[in-house]
Amino acid sequence: MTVHAVINPATGEVVSEIELAEQEQTDAAIAAAAAAFPAWRDVAPADRARLLRRFARLVDDDLENLAALEVANSGHTLTNARWEAGNVRDVLEYYAAAPERNFGRQIPVAGGVDITFREPLGVVGVIVPWNFPMPIAGWGLAPALAAGNTVVLKPAELTPLTAIRLGELALEAGIPEGVLTVLPGRGAVVGERFVTHPQVKKVVFTGSTAVGKRIMAGCAEQLTRVTLELGGKSANIVFADADVQEAAARAPGGVFDNAGQDCCARSRILVQRRVLDRFLELLEPAVRDVRVGDPRREDTVMGPLISAAHRDRVAGFLQTSDGSARADILVQGEAPSGPGHWFPPTVVMPRDPHDRLLTEEVFGPVVAVVPFEDEAEAIRIANDTDYGLSGSIWTRDVGRALRVSRAVEAGNLSVNSHASVRYSTPFGGFKASGIGRELGPDALESFTEVKNVFIATEEQS
Ligand code: NAD
Repeated sequence: MTVHAVINPATGEVVSEIELAEQEQTDAAIAAAAAAFPAWRDVAPADRARLLRRFARLVDDDLENLAALEVANSGHTLTNARWEAGNVRDVLEYYAAAPERNFGRQIPVAGGVDITFREPLGVVGVIVPWNFPMPIAGWGLAPALAAGNTVVLKPAELTPLTAIRLGELALEAGIPEGVLTVLPGRGAVVGERFVTHPQVKKVVFTGSTAVGKRIMAGCAEQLTRVTLELGGKSANIVFADADVQEAAARAPGGVFDNAGQDCCARSRILVQRRVLDRFLELLEPAVRDVRVGDPRREDTVMGPLISAAHRDRVAGFLQTSDGSARADILVQGEAPSGPGHWFPPTVVMPRDPHDRLLTEEVFGPVVAVVPFEDEAEAIRIANDTDYGLSGSIWTRDVGRALRVSRAVEAGNLSVNSHASVRYSTPFGGFKASGIGRELGPDALESFTEVKNVFIATEEQS
């Protein structure tokens, strides 16, 4: 094991030191999960439900502690961190209902009875990114455990603390050893071992598209099942018939939440040209209102970026190789100068319609504004990206809301809202944003195999 310092991104100070697992410990954790699987699969449905509900209750009891850990480890604002811990509780409660409702079907056939079973897969490896450590851990582990699988979960190197605490709470809730193991470690060691280990039957990966492709290619070797939640370049489309004031007031929340380190960030604002000036006038004060600073304060809206390297990457999006500006800065808010890894909320208009600010995921508080003339052009621009995760459509015209929702190639769209995530509805991407769905009933199914059994009922001669 190697020792790794966990840093507070708002101060640059060491929060704690943790041990990172090597391949030997990873193999041991997978072996323990495989050993625990048959007994967990066979736990009576009501008992498995009770254990998940108890786990949810302990998360709720520990909510303030979990939130404080996330603020210190990830720089999330206290308000967001409380929501994130509450989301883990809610997701556990939602899937706690599943063990008793995870039905197969009875299908009419000739000569007998045909029934299907939904059977768990075995050991599931869950790989979590640094941007939403708690919710994404919960979205993987809760449906996997509810369906009767055992889980080894790898948090991101930068943000392991809340996942470690969730592992402790699961044990405290009475979930047996080996059923959920939280194993901090490097992607190239622990994560890759999930992909190559023959006893891991499914890998759930949330992270960058580049690593996701590599994981899918590796999983193909053994036909290991895979769910991928990857990057995004989502469009926030504002039509002239919308409540433009509301759309402008809410636009910062759609992109600067979590300092833009959000796969669903609406990092392109498409505005119908005839309301562009008015929209920008209204947007400016809304951006200046985004209070950036100490994430422990209740009134802070935006915290720091996760690391100095990430801040430099985000800043790099605004410069060309010869140091000239690639976009006009329309509004830029304020941010502390340091210590910590700060970047101000920034609204730009790229000079080139194919600029990387419009095609690549910045994963920081930078949003690009693009004017459009009509509905057809809005759809064309919205789809002019490899990604397809989320998006918003602002209009008062119901027909247009539905037409555009159907035409935009993305897995999660909101009309007159930026909400992308509800624990009871499916979440995931089209195109390079991923494969498969988390949350809702779809996730539960993805952690099972369907088995079909035919029983002959005709008299044997
Ligand atoms: P990343 O791909 O670098 O890392 C994600 C996780 O994968 C980490 O735990 C990392 O240790 C692990 N990993 C790295 N290399 C690996 C390998 N070779 N094999 C196995 N595991 C490996 O991504 P990141 O920078 O931590 O996260 C940011 C990205 O995550 C962004 O692109 C963002 O859009 C995406 N994301 C997507 C969603 C979604 O639901 N679609 C949600 C949140 C974040």
